[in-house]
Amino acid sequence: MQRNIIDKIYIDGEFVTPHGTEEFDLHNPATGEVIGQVRLADEADAHAAVAAAKRALPAWSATSREERIDALGRLQAAVAAQRDDLLEAVTVEYGGPQRHSFLVDAAAGAFAGMISTLAEFDFTRRIGQAEVELAPAGVAGLITPWNSDAFFICDKLATALAAGCTVVIKPSELSATQTQVITQALHEAGLPRGVVNVVTGRGDVVGSVITRHPDVSKISFTGSTATGKVIASQAVDTLKRLTLELGGKSPSIVLDDADLGQALTGALAAGFVNSGQACVAGTRILVPEGRIDEALALIAKKVPEEFPVGDPRDPATSIGPMVSERQWERVQSYIRRGMEEGARVVVGGPGRPEGLGNGYFVRPTVFADVTNDMTIAQEEIFGPVLSVITYRNDDHAVDIANDTTYGLHAYVFSSDPQRARRIASRLEAGRVSINGGYEPLSPFGGFKQSGIGREYGVFGLEGFLEPRSVML
Ligand code: NAD
Repeated sequence: MQRNIIDKIYIDGEFVTPHGTEEFDLHNPATGEVIGQVRLADEADAHAAVAAAKRALPAWSATSREERIDALGRLQAAVAAQRDDLLEAVTVEYGGPQRHSFLVDAAAGAFAGMISTLAEFDFTRRIGQAEVELAPAGVAGLITPWNSDAFFICDKLATALAAGCTVVIKPSELSATQTQVITQALHEAGLPRGVVNVVTGRGDVVGSVITRHPDVSKISFTGSTATGKVIASQAVDTLKRLTLELGGKSPSIVLDDADLGQALTGALAAGFVNSGQACVAGTRILVPEGRIDEALALIAKKVPEEFPVGDPRDPATSIGPMVSERQWERVQSYIRRGMEEGARVVVGGPGRPEGLGNGYFVRPTVFADVTNDMTIAQEEIFGPVLSVITYRNDDHAVDIANDTTYGLHAYVFSSDPQRARRIASRLEAGRVSINGGYEPLSPFGGFKQSGIGREYGVFGLEGFLEPRSVML
């Protein structure tokens, strides 16, 4: 098999060889094979990228709404034109099931969403005697994780450019192939030099320069809560504006009036989304104690039937491998921990699924007899491992749902939308989905340790803007 050698970064409108010399092997998680190498950027590359973004800022921040909409349209078209390459990159580098290609389509879709937001957005507001202008925050550092990286890059980029910011993107080193495809599209879209710069490197090297740099005004970060805290501390000396999109331990509350079959299909889909490697995964399924036996019987049947694990290229596959061996080990250790702490495996368990001896595949696992204080109910596992927890009444369900340091997402299933709506207002979560409800441009972000700030749509755009009050 031909290996993909990625030895260029993108600075000031050109593909250049990094100063950094460290090389990093890329693996196909479905086979464990090495599929390529990426040469990583270093501190000097990060400084060069910030300098290019700073040079490009005065002209880009002065562009009109129409010019920005035009640029976003070109980016959308360029990314959409790379769809096949992107889908291949996501499959081969990340193990993303091709059946879930909507995650790839969401990358180009992010530009479309921001175009509609920008078209309506009011950059000036009148408050009494003051005219309030919303000005671009400046050079923005966009730091992204390996799960759905193409989407996160495109979403943050679209929002920053719409605000008039120039950017330095620091993707995960595990997503170098997706980043290569996206960067090629960005280049073809023909933005002015320096407006977008892409430096793939290690977080503690390249990311650390960007988050401390005095010429960077804003950081938009998606990743783990632990890294988010490090980034906040790195950014404090220069008091950067921060958007932090961090981890989650989201509850799926199945109310006692719900159609149990439908609700559990929805709850399992929310839990196993992106092979469980999703910040929004509904990893705690809350079931009324009177319906637990029925629920567990349904789960034992539904998981193998409706959520098959396997080759990400197989159109039947719903759950692919974990991104890396390290992630596989981590998920295994949580499965063992759940068993040690007294939870009961309803389906799945430790080890590899039958017939999938190579690669980083996990058996989709659901635990019963879980109490909310167990490690598997409190910590983000980031794999297809779910906990079923029983509750006595609605108040108890809300208490359990909120009994976590996280607060990113929640799901409620009920045949009574008004009742579900009342529960939603009591949940400490940045987004609540009722019976699968979804609105991509609604604000996204976390309560508590799931983050600071919001992304998407109007709220996302405001995160890249500084209000300036001019009092007349
Ligand atoms: P991570 O925190 O390990 O890394 C994320 C990014 O931060 C990577 O690009 C990494 O190189 C960089 N980084 C690491 N140390 C840094 C430092 N000191 N300074 C600057 N940058 C640094 O996360 P991950 O393992 O890549 O992704 C999985 C995590 O992301 C999970 O916790 C998941 O919940 C979270 N996530 C959150 C959201 C959300 O929107 N809330 C979405 C997806 C993923």
